[in-house]
Amino acid sequence: MKKTLFALLFLFLIVSVQAQLKSPSEFLPNYGKQISQYHQVEAYFNQLMTASPNIKKQKYGVTNEGRDLNVYFISSPENLANLDLIRNNNLAAIGLSDTKTEKIGDKLIVWLSFNVHGNEFAGTESAMTVAYELLNPANASSKKELENRVVILDPCINPDGYSRYGNWLREISGKKTHPELSDREHMEVWPGGRFNHYMFDLNRDWAWQTQLETQQRLALYNEWLPQMHVDVHEMGYNSPYFFPPSAEPWHEYIEKYQKDFQNTIGAKISEKFDAENWLYNTRERFDMFYPSYGDTYPTYNGAVGMTFEQGGIGAGREVLLENGTTLTIKDRLTHHAKAVLTAVEVATSESDQLIKGFRHFMTNSRKTVKGEYKTYILKGNPKLEQMAVLLKKNKIEFAYADASQKSNGFNYQTQKSKGFTIEPNDLIIKVDQPKAVLTQVLFEPTQVLHDSLSYDITAWALPLAYGVEGYALKNTIAIKTKASIEVVAPLVPNSVYGFYIPWNNRISAQVLSLLHQKDIKVRSAMKKAVFGQTVVEPGGLIVSKADNPKLIDFEKTVSEIIKIKKDFNYISSGFTQNGTDLGGENFTLLKAPKIALLSGRGVGSTEFGSVWFYLDEVMGYPVSIVEAGNFNRLELNKYNTLILADGYYDFSEDQQKQISEWIKGGAKVIAMNNALSIFEDKLAYGLSIFESDEAKKSSEKEASDKLLKERFLDYQSSERRAISASIPGAVIENVLDITHPMSFGLGPVYYSLKTDDRHYSLLKKAINIAYVPINYKSYGFVGNDLKKKLNNTVSFAIEKKGKGEVIYMIDNPLFRGFWENGTLLFSNALFLVN
Ligand SMILES: [Zn+2]
Repeated sequence: MKKTLFALLFLFLIVSVQAQLKSPSEFLPNYGKQISQYHQVEAYFNQLMTASPNIKKQKYGVTNEGRDLNVYFISSPENLANLDLIRNNNLAAIGLSDTKTEKIGDKLIVWLSFNVHGNEFAGTESAMTVAYELLNPANASSKKELENRVVILDPCINPDGYSRYGNWLREISGKKTHPELSDREHMEVWPGGRFNHYMFDLNRDWAWQTQLETQQRLALYNEWLPQMHVDVHEMGYNSPYFFPPSAEPWHEYIEKYQKDFQNTIGAKISEKFDAENWLYNTRERFDMFYPSYGDTYPTYNGAVGMTFEQGGIGAGREVLLENGTTLTIKDRLTHHAKAVLTAVEVATSESDQLIKGFRHFMTNSRKTVKGEYKTYILKGNPKLEQMAVLLKKNKIEFAYADASQKSNGFNYQTQKSKGFTIEPNDLIIKVDQPKAVLTQVLFEPTQVLHDSLSYDITAWALPLAYGVEGYALKNTIAIKTKASIEVVAPLVPNSVYGFYIPWNNRISAQVLSLLHQKDIKVRSAMKKAVFGQTVVEPGGLIVSKADNPKLIDFEKTVSEIIKIKKDFNYISSGFTQNGTDLGGENFTLLKAPKIALLSGRGVGSTEFGSVWFYLDEVMGYPVSIVEAGNFNRLELNKYNTLILADGYYDFSEDQQKQISEWIKGGAKVIAMNNALSIFEDKLAYGLSIFESDEAKKSSEKEASDKLLKERFLDYQSSERRAISASIPGAVIENVLDITHPMSFGLGPVYYSLKTDDRHYSLLKKAINIAYVPINYKSYGFVGNDLKKKLNNTVSFAIEKKGKGEVIYMIDNPLFRGFWENGTLLFSNALFLVN
């Protein structure tokens, strides 16, 4: 028996030794010639695990389409057996964990992310080479390196987008490649593979974490907090490789050691690229400002965060470049692997510096506060429920006031310092915490922008995004706090007249969505109504027995549905103290929207995605998605709501007439951004860029004078001149018509995130729900020429047509899914306007 056991063990050892570490090309016959399928990528990593003791897998989630999300830890076997200790020690050193052990020394933690944009696929291909080279025993320097560091490698952040692109590319591939530019291989079909399932750009989602992939990945990321993060991308195929240092603007809170390290890495990679005679560039285009990227978010969390970019989007398998050479998958992945491996090599050789810098960043920033403010206070508001979710996702510590205290601070809404009282349930965030810098970046009213040539939005202060009264304080405060707010749902008596659901955050709309789907009739208050102890604010929902006589076990059924909204209440009578009784005109019976949303060519894919995600995931509400090209097959009379996301719609005159007639019959169109051009300056509609012919003439005169002046200006500054008319993304004050349902629950002012220069004058014969007043307040960069043009322009409006209406959304309130007050505004338009 013993003998057989020994024989088996011996055989097992032989087999283990024989499991040879295979390179990607040994394992995948088409490696570098065709995109690998996602399951092949997973199989390759599994092969590495059977052949090497230095790699370990952790599945950290599943995508919307059911694909596994994995990271691979590459380190020494001893480190791999002690990952939890290493992780905890790293967090303990910066105050984010109490458990520290001497058993294992400091390790450098390096995180490598590939393919956040699905169609930039040479990233994932290169991840296999990078992993192989880090494990390859022939690599003499690797053993000691493996002991000193842990590499966390995520070969594909966005497997759904990667697979969408890959399926398409394989589908259209012939036996020979198609390097000619006009070949369909270089023209992706709508919506393209860049985005995730819901068409969200995952490289804009790091801080907001609206998407499933980001939520699961960031939970793991925040458990580790590496010292270096490399985010591997591709860009237009003619562009030579980009590696650090990054371009201006750099956020002023980024520390010298982070900049220095980018320089060191850039210098080393450039040496390697010089030796191969490869073209590259640094310090151009990819900046370090917006906090939700794969380079900035890690940077604000103490790491050296970097973007690497290879030319490759649209390159397919092989493409002809403007210099006459061709670019293949092999070229792209080889460049990536060289750059990434060099970054790992430099980080390893300077690991002491990196660890020191990281710890200093995380521990010192809380004492030597980088910005002007040390405390942020958000006044008690039901919207803070979502704010708390966001803070927790980012491991930002906060508490609620449990006492009252007079204070003074900068008010976000008025942009003035003023006295106010901190009251119980106000949310308090102190900068004095390990995530000091991230906290400040997300809450600072004004971010210093040293260079206005940024590729992204330049303001995002969270009190404005969430529509809650907020204050930034220059001092720390001492006040009694509590960790959470108890909202106790009322005890429902056996018999009630109706239920009241306040309309004050996204959960209100989620409840209404559920009620509509159960076919339960709901009314909404146009004005305040006082039912005994229950005060119904405008927008408040009432579910009454009178409207739902057939509902079995009314009290139990309704309270079961609405319990997710903990501040719900009940009423015992339809009589009000202030004369706005339930049976009167104050309470509108709501229509359940029956929604069609157009998709397909011409429609902005992320903008379409923001609406789809809102309906499908946030509201869980049914929607028919119809290809814009199939509009003729859409039976409009089966719907009462049509949503036109940002896009260029090619409706014929007949189709436009058909839409107009359908609206007049009682339907609603929600048109966003460029979709507004369907109605702009059309006879039957009031939407116009200029308020009068004189205004149009004077604007034309101004534009022509400007052109005359520009004749004397130089060529090289033209790009900078162009930005004076632009707005890459700023936050603009809007006056609200608070009497209209579309503004219910938003508060007295609405700060809108404006991401393009489109603007319209206030509409005549329509309701201007939200408009930009003269001398409006703003946050972020607004080009000088544009600044004055935005005075008295409308951001959201409703035009009545017959029994129906068109809702104009000049700004997209669902942009990237993180503008919480925008989510409520969109819900108002969809559910309360009828
Ligand atoms: Zn990218």
